[in-house]
Amino acid sequence: MSTDAPWMRAARSAGLIGVDGTVRPTIFAEMSALALEHDAVNLGQGFPDDDGPPEVLEAAVEAIRAGINQYPPGRGAAELRAAIAEHQQRFYGLSLDPETQVLVTAGATEAIAASLLALAGPGDEVVTLEPFYDAYAAVIGLSGARHVTIPLSEPGFQPNTAAIDAAITDRTRVIVLNSPHNPTGSILAPEHVERIVAAAARHDAVIVSDEVYEHLVYDGARHRPVTSFAGAAERTLTVSSAAKTFSVTGWKIGWVTGPAALIDAVLGVKQWLTYVNGAPFQGAVARGLRLDDGFFDGLRATMQRRRDLLAAGLVDAGFTIAPTAGSYFIVANGEPLGLTDAAASARALAVDPGVVAIPLSAFGGAVSASALRFAFCKPDAVIAEGVRRLQSLRR
Ligand code: PMP
Ligand code: GLN
Repeated sequence: MSTDAPWMRAARSAGLIGVDGTVRPTIFAEMSALALEHDAVNLGQGFPDDDGPPEVLEAAVEAIRAGINQYPPGRGAAELRAAIAEHQQRFYGLSLDPETQVLVTAGATEAIAASLLALAGPGDEVVTLEPFYDAYAAVIGLSGARHVTIPLSEPGFQPNTAAIDAAITDRTRVIVLNSPHNPTGSILAPEHVERIVAAAARHDAVIVSDEVYEHLVYDGARHRPVTSFAGAAERTLTVSSAAKTFSVTGWKIGWVTGPAALIDAVLGVKQWLTYVNGAPFQGAVARGLRLDDGFFDGLRATMQRRRDLLAAGLVDAGFTIAPTAGSYFIVANGEPLGLTDAAASARALAVDPGVVAIPLSAFGGAVSASALRFAFCKPDAVIAEGVRRLQSLRR
């Protein structure tokens, strides 16, 4: 029996499934399995080792005990939708109607998948930055649209204006942005966002802005949602998630906000993908979104300290690194240490000296073959041990 669906052909050519049709684990799952196998320090897959705020965790336990265990409403629990709208107002001054402009999803992953499946199909083009988070390519493949990219280049992992203008055309249906950016840790400069928004308006494209790292922005900078740029709100869907902000990557509670007509289109797909998700977690995430500023400031300060710890350690071990403005990743280049092929060296480093990172090439082309992505969402002691091991590479 042939299982060669169109998306599988696209996924195969993107290297997401094996040539024999077997579904390959994601690079993150593969590298986490290697970490376990070799008892390596896992600075690969981006998930925190420590738990999120106790009151948020407790709220989920209480919800289960209180019997909040059946299907929540299709758009998400009213309490969570209200908390998401309040959060956008409190942090960014954005006004949203929680009844029509907010949709709760199974993580940011489903928000992105449902948005792309709702809006793009065969004959359309979807533009992303490159390197890109792996799920974008897979879902664009599922949709049947063509994937076009805007390369980010060093220093600073920014796009150039010629590439923006070349990528966005009348064929463009959706532009997926991601800032702070996984995997590079860069933040899109405002002039690039302005140019992209103008191009989207000229070609009548929708922007899907993946802002899951909105609260992980360093050095006193503040996150500015794409939708707050002039002319963006009417065509922008903003995606975020509880995963990174509250250190609950396993809960899979995300959301998408934007114009009511676009949210309706996304709901039309979401309800057939998962219908609803995670009833007892929704009120708990609402609790998290309403935590006082001290929590969000503390998260940022902790992650910035860990960023600095890992950055100093990588430099000390002989890597050259790119500055991280946001997210919880650092791109490090192993070339000075003779690690020229990151895909091979990531697997070798897992065994000796026992540290796991992700080769940047897993996020598409247009990157240095010797670049690795290290995650710093780990306790200081774990980062210190990873760094200690990496220092043996110098000898
Ligand atoms: N977008 C980006 C850029 C991510 O890094 C991730 C996951 N880490 C996601 C989306 C998926 O988020 P979620 O776990 O909420 O589905
Ligand atoms: N977003 C996380 C990362 O980039 C991992 C998510 C996943 O494993 N799918 O590391």
